[in-house]
Amino acid sequence: MLKIPEELNCPTKLRIIENEPLSAYTTMGVGGTVSQLIDIPWISDCFPKVLDLCREQGIKPIILGNGSNIIAPDGELDLVVIKTPVGIVIPKTEGVDWLEIQAGMSLFTVCNNSVIQALTGLEFAYGIPGSVGGAIYMNAGAYDGEMSQVVQSVTVWQDGEILEIPAEQCGFSYRHSVFQDTGAVILSAKLKLRPGNSVFIRAKMDDLLRRRFEKQPLEYPSFGSAFKRPQNGYASELIERAGLKGFSVGGAQVSEKHAGFIINTGGATFEDVTQLIEHVRSVVKEKTGIELETEVRILG
Ligand SMILES: Cc1cc2nc3c(=O)[nH]c(=O)nc-3n(C[C@H](O)[C@H](O)[C@H](O)COP(=O)(O)OP(=O)(O)OC[C@H]3O[C@@H](n4cnc5c(N)ncnc54)[C@H](O)[C@@H]3O)c2cc1C
Repeated sequence: MLKIPEELNCPTKLRIIENEPLSAYTTMGVGGTVSQLIDIPWISDCFPKVLDLCREQGIKPIILGNGSNIIAPDGELDLVVIKTPVGIVIPKTEGVDWLEIQAGMSLFTVCNNSVIQALTGLEFAYGIPGSVGGAIYMNAGAYDGEMSQVVQSVTVWQDGEILEIPAEQCGFSYRHSVFQDTGAVILSAKLKLRPGNSVFIRAKMDDLLRRRFEKQPLEYPSFGSAFKRPQNGYASELIERAGLKGFSVGGAQVSEKHAGFIINTGGATFEDVTQLIEHVRSVVKEKTGIELETEVRILG
């Protein structure tokens, strides 16, 4: 457990919750009770101070954005989880072509804000239910776009230092960034967007969101695509060809609507989900020779 001294000078009080179920913070609705969840106020300089404290006390916290690509074991987990601060939407400054966004802000908010400010470039991200930090960490993408295309630089906390990393040094590749290797915590990012037309930007976002509702099982809890796209083809096609559509373990099911999604049909446990993932991987490997790699971050 992280000990937080009285004198930690935070402008607003941290919300520190003990024995908090992680399932309430993940879109899959799975995860046990963590010993401590620290919710940093929506705008706060405290984030790096809390990370410094963790470092001093030898604690490696789990950084949580919107919880849309992470699952954790059931039961009691001896973990300190830090929920990233949301920040505020700051209008683009005259004369600069980037927006600085706090890590915890949702992509939905940033996208809607880019419509208001008539900034184009982020349309692809509308409908990805992540935070900006989580999306950069995962290099999230869809419909031919990915975060690497809009990131100018990322400000991170790493081993007690705050560094601004230019996009070229972020090691972006398909669903990967260097932060997955270095363990750096993303505090904020500068996103480079171009002047556009609000009506066209809105129309494009609405179209992409409609396509998601048509193709994806958004009526169920999930973490999106469970597997990364293999080199040739799509994971969903391989899973469907392997006859696994609708296959379930407990409350976890390969979606009938989109075989790349594992959904929680009710009461799914971590064991259900991970067993289903392993079953899908082994059947697909046996039938097609292709090894699927998970996209979801599995703790423990
Ligand atoms: C219905 C649905 C649809 C989806 N569609 C897509 C899609 O089209 N494309 C796509 O790429 N993904 C998609 N996803 C997956 C997910 O939304 C993305 O991966 C998203 O970027 C994760 O962001 P998050 O804030 O939820 O991260 P979390 O799930 O909270 O965390 C994911 C990982 O990032 C780390 N992390 C989070 N914030 C930080 C930070 N500030 N600093 C360092 N590490 C951090 C966490 O520790 C964890 O390892 C979908 C998910 C769902 C549920």
